[in-house]
Amino acid sequence: MKAKEILKGMSPYKPGKQIEEVKKEYGLDKIVKLASNENPFGFSPQVKKQLPKLIEQLEKYPDGYAAALRKKVAAFLKVNEEQLIFGNGSDEVVQIICRTFLEPGANTIMAAPTFPQYKHNALIEGAEVREVPLVDGRHDLKTMLDQVDENTRVLWLCTPNNPTGVHLSAEEIKKVLNDCPPSVLVVLDEAYYEYMEAEDALDSVAALSQFDNLMVLRTFSKAYGLAGLRIGYGVGSSEIISTLEPAREPFNTSTIAQAAAILALDDQQFISETVKENAVNKRKLMEFLDQEGLGYFPSEANFVLVHLPVSGDEMFEHLLSKGYIVRSGEALGLPNSIRLTIGSQEDMAEVQSEIKERLIGISK
Ligand code: PMP
Repeated sequence: MKAKEILKGMSPYKPGKQIEEVKKEYGLDKIVKLASNENPFGFSPQVKKQLPKLIEQLEKYPDGYAAALRKKVAAFLKVNEEQLIFGNGSDEVVQIICRTFLEPGANTIMAAPTFPQYKHNALIEGAEVREVPLVDGRHDLKTMLDQVDENTRVLWLCTPNNPTGVHLSAEEIKKVLNDCPPSVLVVLDEAYYEYMEAEDALDSVAALSQFDNLMVLRTFSKAYGLAGLRIGYGVGSSEIISTLEPAREPFNTSTIAQAAAILALDDQQFISETVKENAVNKRKLMEFLDQEGLGYFPSEANFVLVHLPVSGDEMFEHLLSKGYIVRSGEALGLPNSIRLTIGSQEDMAEVQSEIKERLIGISK
């Protein structure tokens, strides 16, 4: 059997450690996962309440067009229904974009490190991947633009960037859009959009009417807390969306995910509470890091990339043995760091004291 040559050098996505796995390995009762930027407060109680009603007619295929959710999101964003595409997570929208626009001979430009699925899917399509190293956790936009040529099809901007949490300002994004040829699709991945507090952030949906080559990605996995149901979306011009639609699987989002997303969108109170609590706990973490003399990137998301005087792997192992799953920077392309998802107040206080304990161990 002969698979695509490129797959030989590729490995499957390595998720953060799973809770049950760690419990068994370390004989622990309580495990706190701060590794995948999930919502520590769960998801809207409205979704939980209605869930039994959502488990009906599972023998039927879902509405592949997600008409009810489409209507809801279109009204929420004040865009036309034809401007939306839904995916089995925004992961799938990334895949659909790559399937649609990338092929051998084409190239795509992204920061490094950034969300790994842009590169992963681009390689599978046989495209050339042009990675531009971050500078101080930020996209190097000038160098990214310098990389654009007549074969560039997609330029990825992740704001706030995973794994650094650094956001791009409206001015920076608009400059990219003004300087980029209109033949290049600019994808703005806003998976952590709800968490952004920066006053200089772009109103990306409003910018869609100004730039025909802009596409915005959002998800119900992060602040909305529905990562387990897998639902996200892309919003762009109706021309971009109709170009993408044939590359989408016919029944890619489930009936339950669509219904839950509608309920979740209606519960904006849950989102504002989540965002408020995240901001408080993130600020406390930064105060702790300042006190301990640990550097970090300024984050507009629900995670912080913390610089360490030891390897990320070492800190990861230490925290794991205490029941905290975090992401080692080594695995993310940023050595001597960890990426810490902002958890509940109690869990953050505990993980902070475990970090401190490990650092005291070093200075001794
Ligand atoms: N984009 C970014 C920047 C992310 O961090 C993630 C999740 N880690 C995704 C997209 C994909 O999220 P989902 O598929 O759950 O919507």
